[in-house]
Amino acid sequence: MTKWVYSFGNGLNEGRAEMRNLLGGKGANLAEMASIGLPVPPGFTITTEVCSAFYDNGRKYPEDLRAQVDAAMQRIEGAMGLRFGDADAPLLVSVRSGARVSMPGMMDTVLNLGLNDETVQGLARSSGDERFAWDSYRRFVQMYGSVVMGVAHHHFEDVLDQFKRTLGVIDDTAITAAQWREVVKAYHEIIHEHTGQEFPSDPQAQLWGAIGAVFGSWMNPRANTYRRLHDIPASWGTAVNVQSMVFGNMGDDCATGVCFTRDPSTGEDVFYGEYLVNAQGEDVVAGIRTPQPMSRARAEEGQHPMEMVLPDAYAELLRVRALLERHYRDMQDIEFTVQRNVLYLLQTRNGKRTAAAALKIAIDMAREGLISKEDAICRVPATSLDQLLHPALDPKADRVQLTRGLPASPGAASGAVVFTAEECEARAARGEDVILVRVETSPEDVHGMHAARGVLTARGGMTSHAAVVARGMGRVCVAGAGSVHIDYATMVMTIDGHSIAEGDWITLDGSTGAVYLGRVATIPPILSDDFNTLMGWADSIRRLGVRANAETPDDAKTACRFGAEGIGLARTEHMFFGPDRIGHVRQMIIADEETVRQRAINALLVFQRDDFVSIFRIMAGLPVTVRLLDPPLHEFLPHAEAELAEVATALGKTVEEIRARCASLAEANPMLGHRGCRLGLTNPEIYAMQVRAIIEAALQVSDETGKGIVPEIMIPLVATRAELEVARRAAEAEISAVLQERGAALDYRIGTMIELPRAAIQAGEIAHHADFFSFGTNDLTQTTFGLSRDDAGSFLPFYVDHGLLPKDPFVSIDREGVGALVRMGVERGRAAHPGLKLGICGEHGGDPDSIAFFDEVGLDYVSCSPFRVPVARLAAAQAALAHRKENASA
Ligand code: ADP
Ligand code: MG
Ligand code: MG
Repeated sequence: MTKWVYSFGNGLNEGRAEMRNLLGGKGANLAEMASIGLPVPPGFTITTEVCSAFYDNGRKYPEDLRAQVDAAMQRIEGAMGLRFGDADAPLLVSVRSGARVSMPGMMDTVLNLGLNDETVQGLARSSGDERFAWDSYRRFVQMYGSVVMGVAHHHFEDVLDQFKRTLGVIDDTAITAAQWREVVKAYHEIIHEHTGQEFPSDPQAQLWGAIGAVFGSWMNPRANTYRRLHDIPASWGTAVNVQSMVFGNMGDDCATGVCFTRDPSTGEDVFYGEYLVNAQGEDVVAGIRTPQPMSRARAEEGQHPMEMVLPDAYAELLRVRALLERHYRDMQDIEFTVQRNVLYLLQTRNGKRTAAAALKIAIDMAREGLISKEDAICRVPATSLDQLLHPALDPKADRVQLTRGLPASPGAASGAVVFTAEECEARAARGEDVILVRVETSPEDVHGMHAARGVLTARGGMTSHAAVVARGMGRVCVAGAGSVHIDYATMVMTIDGHSIAEGDWITLDGSTGAVYLGRVATIPPILSDDFNTLMGWADSIRRLGVRANAETPDDAKTACRFGAEGIGLARTEHMFFGPDRIGHVRQMIIADEETVRQRAINALLVFQRDDFVSIFRIMAGLPVTVRLLDPPLHEFLPHAEAELAEVATALGKTVEEIRARCASLAEANPMLGHRGCRLGLTNPEIYAMQVRAIIEAALQVSDETGKGIVPEIMIPLVATRAELEVARRAAEAEISAVLQERGAALDYRIGTMIELPRAAIQAGEIAHHADFFSFGTNDLTQTTFGLSRDDAGSFLPFYVDHGLLPKDPFVSIDREGVGALVRMGVERGRAAHPGLKLGICGEHGGDPDSIAFFDEVGLDYVSCSPFRVPVARLAAAQAALAHRKENASA
């Protein structure tokens, strides 16, 4: 007989935390908490296998499920001394969904299940609180009516609002038993009106209705979309948790709350969260009343922290907090209820956190001995470091503060205000900076939040949807700014007399919660000690070297500041575009007289040498790979009338002649045209000038600093052995000439990009003339797929959305295709030339998944944009640890 049902609480815990696949995250952790002695109301979990069986068998349950559920219900009844459906002492339960990973789109929880017109009387008698009983009943009818029977939420809200207006009350807690009774009656009528059905009064019918709704929600469109976006297979299924109710709405010695064992925004080791007295379930996040802080330390003037209001339960919660952290060895996100001063735990999970918090918590926990350094390294998502490197508001900048909300997700962001996720996405796609402003957000807004620089909400707390999602995504968020009033009809918001229309700019400071008018200047982030500590630990573990792609002094300095161990790619063409240079470049290309041409080249030599001198100085002896001119020459050609005239004057030609010459240089397919080493071979004087500039600069800086500069000269777009052989010979001739003129000696390397499939295949031949290879994975991806990276935007997203490609191959390396060529290049290159140095310098050099691959194939280093250097250092350490683990288990 298959076991479909696992009990927890009251001494029988059939599940464990490791059984998340079978019991879902919520169910597994409820059992785990109960098994370590924490106060968890007893209940049971119907496994994810039931969900799969349900769908495999035409939406029918396994035969023996009902008997197992009945037995588990009886166990709860025994534990609580109550009977499900009993008119005198009714057991009430919650029905909660819970997949392996928390998933929006799944059925909302139904509380107080088991109430009807009779049992509500029993509850009133047994609790001695009639108001509480009817409050629970109205909650149940509303939840069941909307969640299970599909009557839109707002129908119930409208009735309640109407009631409150007539009665002249604002707060739910001021409504009496008799009044709630009227509301319940009205709710029953609404349900009948909208569904044509009676509200089910039989508790067994209620229970199976709710269970069916959970399993049904697994295949609803929202859940399907979410699964598709997050690669969650439909076969996983969801579990259902049925749990005896505890009541936070029984009076002023009762409460409900959500909290984190540490601050999820900063990582500080303080208890953090919100609670509400005399409330139930989602009241805290729903924004019906303003939640109160947990701790005195975090309370502001006029607030009522739980520490003061419910000191006993708070003390108990502190004990639980320490216990849970020690047990799970991670920061926890807890849901709890206090019933008549007694604490109950309803959920725990590893808490979502900002990058800054992840970093601080990892370092602190390693120091506290809760986790190892290796664990700490793996606890911080490499890409999230990006957020730490983001700007903050310039303290000296002028500003007009509009209001203040909750500091829900740190960082500073400015942008145009928009009020819908759709508009947000549309504007972001056009390259605009946008701030999404909503009363509150829901899962439908997630795509808009992703496109936004920041999110501002009028309602909701630190644990509201907006706050949690924004922190997870690394978006700036200010939540619950109560003075923000949004009129979706006119697309205008007002804040204390200021009227702000769609498209107007505001600035958010997610670290303080402040909202400012217009754009406020920002300053670069300051790297914390924790950041440096983690980087140090990562460096001691990683095998891969990390360099940066940089050619300007600013980029080189940033690269050094972020710990780059050299420059893996300095693109010389970027130096050709400066206003003082482009004229010479144009003359060099267009001139037909040798002397004129050489004059332009000589002028460029001076600029290039200065460029290299400053880079070599900044890099202070670290390796620098300089790539010789790569793009098609016509990219530098003049277009505007004034530019044409300027070149014409300089060369003593007519504008028409220049125009004709430019036209003759146009190519049908320039990315596959006259570029890379093809240029250098047909115009040897250009490469000769660049080589000379590099060598002269290296000599100069070596002299200056006493550090031996070893320049690495890289020849791009090589396809054949002969190309590299000839280009290398020419470069060496120029180098000898320079060294002879100077009577100096210098160590140098000459290598090539491997960025064409032919080069990867012929790597064994090419390696004979190379001191190093650098895989140019952008071009290699482009040429392997035959896919122009400049044109892919119009169809690549379709490919990814429809599963034709797992990911954008320009973002994350295509292991099977492009990756196979890299692997071939590595193996053939090393076989022919032991000691050949191998790196990669495409965009993939900063992508953690790709970095794991490069570690696996045995490259020596990755090179990425300067801001990605910390990401790459951490990702390289994580890759090394993953390989260690694989080897250990192999
Ligand atoms: P979600 O996955 O949306 O967090 P939950 O199943 O955790 O949904 O439940 C939502 C709210 O209902 C939580 O705040 C939780 O504390 C409360 N809740 C769930 N079950 C019970 C119960 N048995 N007794 C009291 N409150 C409950
Ligand atoms: Mg929950
Ligand atoms: Mg290239």
